Order: sequence, then C-alpha cells, then structure tokens
Amino acid sequence: MSERTAPFYCPYCGEEDLRPSEEGRGAWECASCNRAFRLSFLGLLAAGLRRDDAETGERSGRHDDD
Ligand SMILES: [Zn+2]
Repeated sequence: MSERTAPFYCPYCGEEDLRPSEEGRGAWECASCNRAFRLSFLGLLAAGLRRDDAETGERSGRHDDD
C-alpha cells in the first residue's frame, strides 16, 4: 500500500504550485499561499477489507517485514 498521495491542487487556495514538504511523508507545501498541510490515507471505506500489512503509521518510514 503506497501513501504516495499527490494532490493536484492546494485545498486552500486552489493553486497547483505544490511541493513535498520536508515535514514528512504526505506533507505538502503550497508556494502560493504558504500553507503546509498533510494528506493521510485513512483506510478503505469497506470495513473488514483492511489488511495487516497496511501501513498505519504515517511517520514510520520503514517496512514491516514480519
Ligand atoms: Zn495554497
């Protein structure tokens, strides 16, 4: 499961001048309105389809090879 969710437009000002933030995975910065925000995948809508290998911690930059 990838968290590489890239926004096309800034949710605040609507501009496209977005770049990944150094704040971490899923964090983006808008050069137009100087806002930083984070996108996070909350999960699939159908309960019960979640898999154990799904990444749950957005701050964990490693793979769990358990
Ligand atoms: Zn913006």
